[in-house]
Amino acid sequence: MVFYMLYFTAELENLTDLQPRGGCDDPSFTYNFKVKCENCGEVSQKATWVTLSESVPLPTGRGTANLVQKCKLCGRDGTIQMVPGHGQPLTLGQSQSGATAGLMVFDCRGFEPVEFSFDDGWKAESTSGTWYDIDLSEGEFVEYDEKGECPVGVTNLQSLFKVVKKQERGGGKTVYA
Ligand SMILES: [Zn+2]
Repeated sequence: MVFYMLYFTAELENLTDLQPRGGCDDPSFTYNFKVKCENCGEVSQKATWVTLSESVPLPTGRGTANLVQKCKLCGRDGTIQMVPGHGQPLTLGQSQSGATAGLMVFDCRGFEPVEFSFDDGWKAESTSGTWYDIDLSEGEFVEYDEKGECPVGVTNLQSLFKVVKKQERGGGKTVYA
């Protein structure tokens, strides 16, 4: 198994804490991406998606995963299991310094997740304290904040799946970095 953390960043204008609408472990937030077969290197033509709230049985009949898929080229099964509890909202400070926020960990067998695509289902708080429902499926979000009398926006979206290691820290705490 290999763990991948989905890291993301964006240019935030008068907004902070960009995250899924129900928080970083929003059970219905949809992650869209393609998968690359570790066996033959084929990248799936169509994007696939996973949510924390949906699991399917493993081909072995024991246990479940959020995604079970067969490589179209070589026929090998791959599975992806999401690991909640390690996501962070993207703050204005991180955005300004070009830092990324880790959003979700994926425990992958047989597949490597690639090409995450931003979709609907996000939220962020403006500097005037107003929460906005944000749809990023068009690649950006631009609005005018009446209360703060300033523009608010999310542009220049970037994301990356990066291999992380599971590390046991003191006090029974597990981190992925
Ligand atoms: Zn394959």
